[in-house]
Formats: sequence, structure tokens, C-alpha cells
Amino acid sequence: MHLTSQDRLFVLTGAGISAGSGLATFRGSGGLWDGHRVEEVATPEAWQADPALVWRFYSQRRRDALAAQPNAAHKALAKIEQRLGNNFYLCTQNVDDLHERAGSHRIHHMHGSLFQSRCTRSNDHFTDHSFYEDPNDLPVCKTCHASVRPHIVWFGEVPLDMDSIYRELDRATVLLVVGTSGSVYPAAGFVNIANQRRIRTIYVGPEEPLNIDSFDEVILSTATEALPSMVE
Ligand SMILES: [Zn+2]
Repeated sequence: MHLTSQDRLFVLTGAGISAGSGLATFRGSGGLWDGHRVEEVATPEAWQADPALVWRFYSQRRRDALAAQPNAAHKALAKIEQRLGNNFYLCTQNVDDLHERAGSHRIHHMHGSLFQSRCTRSNDHFTDHSFYEDPNDLPVCKTCHASVRPHIVWFGEVPLDMDSIYRELDRATVLLVVGTSGSVYPAAGFVNIANQRRIRTIYVGPEEPLNIDSFDEVILSTATEALPSMVE
């Protein structure tokens, strides 16, 4: 991937990059957790109906993420960031912290962060590595005693800080999409904006995206295989 000092790189990553570290996505066909479809544990309705079940799901995901390690693709992106500095922006759909643990700093978690929780009254969020697996011991806000929920964007909720995402897209010169289908909103919207601005677009993933024609360059490979050599 040829980049000059004039370039600004916008990277969008999705489940495919974490899959390389063994983290399940639970989305899509057959993605069951403990007999529940993910829609039954990752929606505002699920939270209203059974917060203990929702916390058991996210506690398990915290355990899984803690046990996982960043892979070669996470490290390759951290390496690009070291070179590009402020001309680098990473927007991830993933809620795990593998990018940070690989060394990424300029990162935005559009779907929230697994290791953050937030007060349901004030919406203030805070770092939280705890497990809440006892239905009689669910977390409450230290300040106002309202219930505390995962700081995760659930199905039917709006992604976090879309303004900053569009601002960064607006000044990028290259869009790199990694490990996400690229055909589902919002990724599809990102590549459309990039095309309107006539900037270079690159897709990396093991399967052809439905909107393959929207990309200038398509690399059919897993992120862990493709990204390290793209950095060199
Ligand atoms: Zn509160």
C-alpha cells in the first residue's frame, strides 16, 4: 500500500479482524450464545426484559476478550499509525480492546467498548473490567444508584459520534476497509462517501463484498494474511 506524507488514511475494521484472534462475532447465521440468538441479548428490549441475562452475556464476552491476543493484522495497523501519526484514523465496529493492546491510539469504537459501562440515567461512562454473573448482584451507579449497563451500541441504537467519523472521512485520501462485509450500513455508506470524493478505496477480506464494484482495489484474503505485507 503506497502512502505519501500527503495522505490521510481512514481505516474501518470489523469482526473479521477479531476473528483472527479467535473471538466469536455471534452475528449472522447460527450465531447462538447459550441457546440465545444475539438479538435476544444485545437490544434495548433484551435489557428491559432481563438485565441479568444481558450482563451474563457481556461478562462472558469480557472473559473471552481478556483471554484473546492481538494478531498480526492488529499489529500491522498499529505500525501504520506509528508512521502516519495524525494522518491516521481507525474506526472500528469491534467492541474488544485488541487494537489498543496492539498499540493503536487514534481509534474510535463506533459500536462502544466492552470494557466500559455507563449509568442509564446520566449516560456517563467509565472503565469497567468486572464480571456481573450473579443476578442478585448487578451494578448500580455510585453517584445516583441508577442501573449500569454495558457501554455497547445495541441493535436499533445509533453508533457513537458519527459526526467525528464523517469529519475524518471528509479529509481522508485513502479508505481501507478490513474484515467487514462492506455491504451493510454503515460501511457501505463510508465507501459511497469515499467514491463521491473520488479518494482511493481498498477492501481486505476473505470473501468478495456485495458492493465489490465500489472499491478500487479488492484483496481477497484474511486480515492477518494480507495486512502485514501491505505495511512493508
Ligand atoms: Zn448515575
